[in-house]
Amino acid sequence: MSDKLKISFEFFPPKTEKMSEQLWSAIEQLVPLGPDFVSVTYGAGGSTRDRTHQTVSRIIEETHVPVAAHLTTVNATKDEINQVLDDYWNAGVRHIVALRGDPPGGVGEKFEATEGGYYNAAELAKAATDRHGFEVSVGCYPEKHPESPDFALDIELLKQKVDAGATRAITQFFFDNDCYFRYVDMVRKAGITIPIVPGIMPVNNFGALTRMAGLCGATIPGRIGRMFENLDDDPETRELVAATLAAEQCLDLAEHGIEHFHFYTLNRAKMAYALSHMLGVRPNSGNSQD
Ligand code: FAD
Repeated sequence: MSDKLKISFEFFPPKTEKMSEQLWSAIEQLVPLGPDFVSVTYGAGGSTRDRTHQTVSRIIEETHVPVAAHLTTVNATKDEINQVLDDYWNAGVRHIVALRGDPPGGVGEKFEATEGGYYNAAELAKAATDRHGFEVSVGCYPEKHPESPDFALDIELLKQKVDAGATRAITQFFFDNDCYFRYVDMVRKAGITIPIVPGIMPVNNFGALTRMAGLCGATIPGRIGRMFENLDDDPETRELVAATLAAEQCLDLAEHGIEHFHFYTLNRAKMAYALSHMLGVRPNSGNSQD
């Protein structure tokens, strides 16, 4: 395992007191692993603007872990977004995950940029770097963005995000590593050199995941579907299957030299912790060299 291995964890802002307890329990378990950063999502259409800010601020106040705030262009003018950028900067945030966001009417609807707003992620990335010199990460799509007619446009847009100042791209979740490897090949051939960090989504609710994957354009290989057959009423076996699959995926990526893993935690620590451990990451003491 590489001694340069990095991990990062993605959380979403909690809605209720109970969800907040779950999030903080996850943060307390995962932060000792020394993640490169943790990130907090921005709800569809900007719906969690205040909650994202509160969550990010609390992480800054109560931990020493670097935190990245997701931000989207949706439902906000440039002035409004600039204000959010200023508020983040003043709260001590130094890293933005700049995203266009999904159509306000829901994934699958036609996207219309907000009048007077930023047009896409590249424009938002440029605003974040120009305004305060934020470190900027962006999203990318190993199976291409569902709205893109082809990979060529997607990769051209990724190039624009890099030109705008992005220094890291985090992928949409995927389950077939070959898709990721093919995508990285295309990106490198296009002259893009920033890290393409795989976003790992451990499957724990197969039904929900199938719906989400359909919307995001992520393919679920048939073999994975078959592994979850007849397990609807058996959460323990489902969890073991999910852990095994995610472990297989991460270890294969690590064998191919991947040095940074971004975990979509869904505010739960257990799976992300176990996967990090398997990759050689240990609490507070750096990475173990096996
Ligand atoms: P962009 O790269 O700007 O573009 C998306 C698509 O729009 C392109 O693929 C293309 O089809 C079209 N497009 C853009 N510009 C042009 C152009 N100039 N010409 C022609 N077509 C164009 N969503 C949230 O709401 N909140 C989050 O916190 C969040 N976090 C995410 C984290 C990651 C790591 C990822 C991968 C996605 C996340 N998303 C989030 C989802 C994301 O907002 C959607 O996938 C959205 O549809 C695209 O965002 P983008 O930043 O990739 O957009």
